[in-house]
Amino acid sequence: MAIQTLDKEVVIIGSGPAGLTAAIYSARANLKPLLIDAPVDAHKQTAPGGQLMITTDVENYPGFSEGIQGPDLMIEFRKQAERFGTEFLEEWITEVDLSERPFILRTDNYIVNAQTLIIATGASAKWLGIPGEAKVPNGFGGNGVSACATCDGPLPAFRNKTLVVVGGGDTAMEEATFLTRYAAKVYVVHRRDKLRASKIMQDKALHNEKIEFIWDTGVEEIVGQDDCGVTGVRLRNLKTNKERVLPCEGVFIAIGHKPNTDLFRGQLDMDEVGYLKTSGHSTATNIPGVFACGDVQDSVYRQAVTAAGTGCMSALDAERFLDHLPVAMPSGEEVTMEGEHITQDHRVIIEPDGSMIPNQPDKVLAKEK
Ligand SMILES: Cc1cc2nc3c(=O)[nH]c(=O)nc-3n(C[C@H](O)[C@H](O)[C@H](O)COP(=O)(O)OP(=O)(O)OC[C@H]3O[C@@H](n4cnc5c(N)ncnc54)[C@H](O)[C@@H]3O)c2cc1C
Repeated sequence: MAIQTLDKEVVIIGSGPAGLTAAIYSARANLKPLLIDAPVDAHKQTAPGGQLMITTDVENYPGFSEGIQGPDLMIEFRKQAERFGTEFLEEWITEVDLSERPFILRTDNYIVNAQTLIIATGASAKWLGIPGEAKVPNGFGGNGVSACATCDGPLPAFRNKTLVVVGGGDTAMEEATFLTRYAAKVYVVHRRDKLRASKIMQDKALHNEKIEFIWDTGVEEIVGQDDCGVTGVRLRNLKTNKERVLPCEGVFIAIGHKPNTDLFRGQLDMDEVGYLKTSGHSTATNIPGVFACGDVQDSVYRQAVTAAGTGCMSALDAERFLDHLPVAMPSGEEVTMEGEHITQDHRVIIEPDGSMIPNQPDKVLAKEK
């Protein structure tokens, strides 16, 4: 197939809760958004609909008093975005050029020129890659294995049960401490003899009576049965090489998340882990016209409802930018589509040619080139 070129005012990458909410808002604003999302890939655990496609019960998304299955929720999001005219393209974005507008996005079959870009590529939980960890039917993922305690810990399957948390950083301590609200007992299995977590998180976990630490130990396999799910983990002491099976009914892998931002490295500002930096007052990145929402810019909350909330913000920010109105940037300045910069104190407007205009009608500043 010959490469096709598309020109769009609003392009969204990612069809999780953030991307689809951005699509609903920008489609309703008549901006005819194009949403591009990666096709199903069993190895990378991606599917249109994002991370919720690999989970079962979602009990904390508002509006569903009895809870809803993750994939069913994402079907509803998608239908709502379609209803207002969102166009969808199922392709991996392989390259982006954000050096000037229109921004250029490349896939195997398309070149897409975008006046504004909303990045909603999410983050992926890191997995151990051990037997038993993959999603059902290839393992026990979704049937006793999870990477999100906040999401799955309160489910009946994990209540009053013996659980294992794998990891030694802040995520692991947070997840283990959270799980003690519901579980009978929580084992933390860590490969070293000390934790990487911050002191405060360590103290909380180490003083929690329901938590027991298993040091210098790796998890080799998650064992169980198709009908009842996880029944244990096969552990190996890394100092003695001795193996044993620890009985448990649930396993939470808490070795961190990786934001899906490799595409934007060198072009957009990110923190040391790779999360995109946004303004705080808006979803603007360091490049005017490029916005980021959802887990890709959120290392703290990482929930469907917060992703949807920032997706809404991104769409409103893109709309504002296309309407030639100023949008708050991470630097604290506000920037318009024409490249005017309004200083953080709102006192001066700097034109694209460098000239400065007071943001008060009766004062004129000397022109600076
Ligand atoms: C097992 C599990 C259970 C969870 N349960 C809950 C829960 O009960 N409640 C809750 O609130 N939250 C839950 N979460 C968290 C929730 O799923 C996330 O916070 C939410 O999905 C983030 O949404 P997002 O739109 O930012 O990104 P994602 O849902 O991650 O979607 C990102 C999309 O971008 C696509 N993408 C990435 N890179 C590219 C590329 N280069 N080209 C094209 N497409 C790309 C991906 O394929 C993906 O579809 C759970 C997470 C997991 C892993």
